Amino acid sequence: MKCKRCRARAAVALPSHHTGFCEACFLEFVERQVEKAIRSQGLFSHADTILLALSGGKDSLAMAHLLRRLGYGVHGVHLDLGIPDSSAPARAAVERFCAAHGIPLDVVQLADEGLAIPLVKDCINRPICSACGTIKRQLFNRAAVQGGFTVLATGHNLDDETSRLFANVIRWDAAQLADQGPMLPAGNGFAKKVKPMWRLSEFETAAYCFLAGIEYHMGACPYSRGASFTGHKSLLAGLEETSPGQKLQFYLGFLEFGRQPFRQAQAAAPCAIVPCTQCGHPTNAECCSVCRMREAIARRDMPVEL
Ligand code: SF4
Ligand code: ZN
Repeated sequence: MKCKRCRARAAVALPSHHTGFCEACFLEFVERQVEKAIRSQGLFSHADTILLALSGGKDSLAMAHLLRRLGYGVHGVHLDLGIPDSSAPARAAVERFCAAHGIPLDVVQLADEGLAIPLVKDCINRPICSACGTIKRQLFNRAAVQGGFTVLATGHNLDDETSRLFANVIRWDAAQLADQGPMLPAGNGFAKKVKPMWRLSEFETAAYCFLAGIEYHMGACPYSRGASFTGHKSLLAGLEETSPGQKLQFYLGFLEFGRQPFRQAQAAAPCAIVPCTQCGHPTNAECCSVCRMREAIARRDMPVEL
C-alpha cells in the first residue's frame, strides 16, 4: 500500500478511512484530525488556558503532545489513585513526559484525600470503576475551577466515546445521552469539559505515540477486568472489523441527529444543581456522592464499642 499523501510506502494502514500513510504523513494526519475535532465542535481557542487531565496512558499523553505542537497553552494535572503496582508507574510516565516537554504539572494523591481506590473498593457497595470515575470527575473539576482554567481537557478517544454511547443507548439513559459529546459548557460550578481526541481511535493514538516516541504507561488497571466498558469495546471492535468506519459514523450521527431530543427534554425539565453541603462541589443531592463515599469509609474506620 502507498501513502495517500506522498505516495511513499505506507507504514500505517487505516481501514476506517480506506487509506494508509507513511510515518511523517500519519503524524500530520493525526494533527489534522485533532484540529478538525477542536474546530468542528468549538472546543477551545488559543486564548484559552487548558488544564489537561493526564493519566499516563497513551491517549492523555498523545493529547498533551498534540496540543503542545498545535501551540495551545497547557498545564497538566495527574491523580495518583494509590493502586498497588499500577499507580506509581503511571505517575512516573506523566512526570517524565511533562518534565521532557516543559509542561507544568500538579499531582493530587487520592491517599491524601482519604480516597485511595483500594480503600474505596473495600468500603463502597458499588462497582469500583463507577466510584473511581465519580471521584476522578470531581477532583479534575475541582482542579480546573480552583486553578482558574477556562477548559478541562481529557484524552477520551473514539473507542471510549462510542462504547459509552452504546452503553447509554442500551439503557436509554436520557440524562447521560443529553450530556454526552466532545464538549460540555461551563456552568453551575462545573468547568467547561472537552475531548479533543474524539475523532481518533485507540489504534491511531497508540500508533501516534509509537511514531512520535512518546513513552506511556501500558499496564492495565488490576480492577479493569470484567468492567462493562471493555465488553462494549470488543463488541464495537467486531463491528468495525466487518464494516470499517462504522464507529465514527455511529458517533457523528449521534452528534448530528441523535442527541438533540435528549437535550431538548433536559432543557424543558432541568435538574436542580446545588453546592454540596459538605464540600461545595455541584450536585443534584444535598450531599455529593464523593462525600457519601467519605462517610462510608469513616463509618468503617469507626472503633467498635465493646
Ligand atoms: Fe479506576 Fe476502573 Fe479505570 Fe481502574 S479500571 S482506573 S478502577 S475506572
Ligand atoms: Zn461533597
